[in-house]
Amino acid sequence: MLACAAIALLAVTGANAQPGLQKSSGHWAIVLHGGAGVIERATMSPQMEAAYRASIKQAIEAGAQVLDHGGHSLDAVEAAIRIMEDDPLFNAGRGAVFAADGTNQLDAAIMDGATLRAGAVADITRTRHPISLARAVMEKSPHVFLVGPGADAFSVYAGLEQVDPSFFFTERRWQSLIKQLQKEGLPIPPRPAGAPPPPQAPVADIEPANVHEFGTVGVVALDRQGNIAAGTSTGGTQAKRWGRVGDSPIIGAGTYASNQSCAVSATGTGEYFIRLTVAREVCSLVQFKGLKLQQAADEVIHKELEALHGDGGVIALTPDGQMAWSFNTPGMFRARLAEGGALQIGVYNDEP
Ligand code: ASP
Repeated sequence: MLACAAIALLAVTGANAQPGLQKSSGHWAIVLHGGAGVIERATMSPQMEAAYRASIKQAIEAGAQVLDHGGHSLDAVEAAIRIMEDDPLFNAGRGAVFAADGTNQLDAAIMDGATLRAGAVADITRTRHPISLARAVMEKSPHVFLVGPGADAFSVYAGLEQVDPSFFFTERRWQSLIKQLQKEGLPIPPRPAGAPPPPQAPVADIEPANVHEFGTVGVVALDRQGNIAAGTSTGGTQAKRWGRVGDSPIIGAGTYASNQSCAVSATGTGEYFIRLTVAREVCSLVQFKGLKLQQAADEVIHKELEALHGDGGVIALTPDGQMAWSFNTPGMFRARLAEGGALQIGVYNDEP
């Protein structure tokens, strides 16, 4: 009887499918984050909150449009992230936080759940869209992870749009860096070459201080062919030093996708996410323990991450269309949308 049931299950799910994971129903889905952190109603102005919600909506709709036209999950991830990289609200591309030396050092990764191919870059300085460079590493190089000047050189070779480093400059990130360096007693670097002249009046404090440190962006997508993908893009943590690289571009830590389990993009203090290999850990719980996606994400964020006193969150998606997010910070900019469903956008931790 049991043997019959097992054979029947195999017939339904296919020999390679994991327990509990059904094949895709042919419907697309997409989940997005715009960073987690101390994002609280008390300190967020209504205008700023509305601006974030509008930007998130625009980005997720761009990804959804790709999927709705039958496009590949990788294309949806890249399309949505490119929009947020151009948006100074987020800590990715233009609007990235500054390192302690006064430069923007950008990290990104992308992974294809169907093939386990992946591409990542760290500490790049001249590519307008770091997520597209990560994808070029995956598709046009024999490697997975390129860093620093080598990655910048590959970007030119691969024909990606180049910008002057001052393209990424924003006044509020610069002021935020100076405040943090002063607090830490560190030297203030010269204002970057090519930046606009300093404003005459002080920059309005348009959002809570801590929000400046967050705003990493990530997207996971499921296409109609049943393939999932994940991508993450960030400026890292503000005032980082010594060539620091966070979790975002590290496959298995901040970004992971496999059709055998799930796709994950993380945000938070990257050091903890690296030590826990958070993204792979969530997918392992789905793949080997048969946990539902939400349970797996909650287990890693609320038990394992909290045990290390780490902070942040994840978004996740399975090939059978389960969508999840989990975070232990006061807020995480986030949205999800499945084919035929309603768009859900959240900012604070008391929202669904
Ligand atoms: N995880 C990113 C990093 O550590 C930062 C963030 O998500 O806010 O580089």
